[in-house]
Amino acid sequence: MNTVYLDNAATTRIAPEVLEAMLPFFRDQFGNPSSFHSFGSSHMKAIERARGQVARLLGAKAEEIYFTSGGTESDNQALRGAVKINSARRGIVTSAVEHPAVIETAKALEEDGCTLGIAEVNRNGELDLESLKTLVNQQTAIVSIMAANNETGVIMPLAKAAEITHEAGALFHTDAVQMVGKSPIDVHSLKIDILSLSAHKLHGPKGVGAIYIRKGIDLPPLLTGGHQEKGIRSGTYNAPGIVGLGKAAELSLTHLKGTVATERKLRESFEKRILEGCPGSFVVAADADRRLPGTVTIIFKGIESEAVLTLLDMQGIYASSGSACSTGSKNPSHVLYAMGVDYTQANSALRFSLSRYTTEEEIDRTVELLATVVERLRRISPYIE
Ligand code: PLP
Repeated sequence: MNTVYLDNAATTRIAPEVLEAMLPFFRDQFGNPSSFHSFGSSHMKAIERARGQVARLLGAKAEEIYFTSGGTESDNQALRGAVKINSARRGIVTSAVEHPAVIETAKALEEDGCTLGIAEVNRNGELDLESLKTLVNQQTAIVSIMAANNETGVIMPLAKAAEITHEAGALFHTDAVQMVGKSPIDVHSLKIDILSLSAHKLHGPKGVGAIYIRKGIDLPPLLTGGHQEKGIRSGTYNAPGIVGLGKAAELSLTHLKGTVATERKLRESFEKRILEGCPGSFVVAADADRRLPGTVTIIFKGIESEAVLTLLDMQGIYASSGSACSTGSKNPSHVLYAMGVDYTQANSALRFSLSRYTTEEEIDRTVELLATVVERLRRISPYIE
């Protein structure tokens, strides 16, 4: 059975070129890059190349990139580090639609005595800048606003949020795990101080990511140990992973323009045909210009998303429900809730996320099957009027 993978916001397939670049570092080049001997230390060159590749994707300097184990760690370091810089600034401000890697970290820090402000989003899922303004003050250490939402694909007004943050003298962090590699992002023009990214969302390996820290910011480390990464991130270098991330970043940059255009075209055709073929369905945050090119959440009124997912899965089509990003979570999505979507509708939400490998044939097959599945479930749904 040919499968169709439309869950690229959860994770992506590894690009063949990335795998090729990594293999030597599993096989023969296994030395520790921090070793004195050349067998290990020669790998430092590959790590530095990867640092440059990641920096280019963000418009950053290589020395501003530090390798981590992924988005969750980078988010933790940003928040936990920022509140340690100045004892007079222990406030965190974030938004209601952040990934748990940010929200749960912020809540844990609140329990440790930090203050926490959660800015609202509007019905389109965009950050409410007025709400943000009321929360940021002279006690704020860090404002953390995601670049694009993992459930809806909605892109946040980062430049404006950074401006509000800087007026109060606080640091601006963005969790750009969903954005990097899928849509252009430039740390300088957006005035981002700290940024988190993760390799497995851009056709790189799992368990590796990076944190961008603008030069001049003295962000305390999360981990103490062997002083790798100038002491910012201790731990033996994950050389294969870092090389893979570098290659994935390089490929993303090469493909970015084309990917944005083709993903968007495919996604728009997908949305249009679903809305026509499945009456009673609607797109969450419908404005196509304000979303990532390849992510869409659709609500199929009157149907439980898990039933649709199961029937799609049986035919080899993989998507996810709104709340799928947290393991085993059965709660309706906090993102949709924050946008004012009611509980029943949130339980009818499905996310489809494309990648540069998604084909027109895959979209055709999904559209056809979805129409049949939705129609079948509607006939037996107890909720439909
Ligand atoms: N932030 C966002 C917006 C995400 O979508 C994810 C992963 O789903 C993460 C953070 C966590 O990244 P990682 O899986 O690399 O820890």
